[in-house]
Amino acid sequence: MRLLLVEDDAMIGAAARDGLREDGFAVDWVRDGREAQAALAPGVHEMVLLDLGLPGRDGLAILRGLRARGDATPVIILTARDAVADRVAGLDAGADDYLVKPFDLDELAARIRALRRRHAGRARAAVRIGPLTMDPATREVAWHGRRVQLSGREYALLAALADRPGAILSRAQLEERIYGWDEEVGSNAVEVFVHGLRRKLDPGFIRNVRGLGYTLSPDAG
Ligand code: CA
Repeated sequence: MRLLLVEDDAMIGAAARDGLREDGFAVDWVRDGREAQAALAPGVHEMVLLDLGLPGRDGLAILRGLRARGDATPVIILTARDAVADRVAGLDAGADDYLVKPFDLDELAARIRALRRRHAGRARAAVRIGPLTMDPATREVAWHGRRVQLSGREYALLAALADRPGAILSRAQLEERIYGWDEEVGSNAVEVFVHGLRRKLDPGFIRNVRGLGYTLSPDAG
């Protein structure tokens, strides 16, 4: 899952980015309002973590602009402890949740997962596709009920495919889901992770559609 983090505080921003990456999220971090405005193209990020006090353009103005364009991308606002009026204004402007700074990284990750579930309209947390079960909250993966250990990137790639069962995702779309903008992407990274997943699950579960990309085959295995 790819997130846009908008935060001008260097320490909070770096801690959030690094912590979320460790949790398997792809994170793009921008530090001012104008950059955030430029980064907010439809369909790129699945969620926005938005600080309100920003240089360039104020977070509330960014949020109002987003909603005015009809963009329903989930937004969590990050606010200071004493800024109750900001939180109220943020929620009224269309934010989905808020977190008070300084926040705990585990709580931030849990809020992101919860908001994502709500947004996807899923009552249950676990995702089941054929013999595969994935629990986004614990990041536990099971194949025919047996626990499988995946690396962070393998998990992210599998989650991207599992999000849209039946869809074919191109290599570029998969890279987008597992890497942030400032991360170096190896030329055959996706192939390497697919290879690892096929070895751990079943060789036929991730199907390569020549020239188009990858898709899941729930009937395999
Ligand atoms: Ca700030």
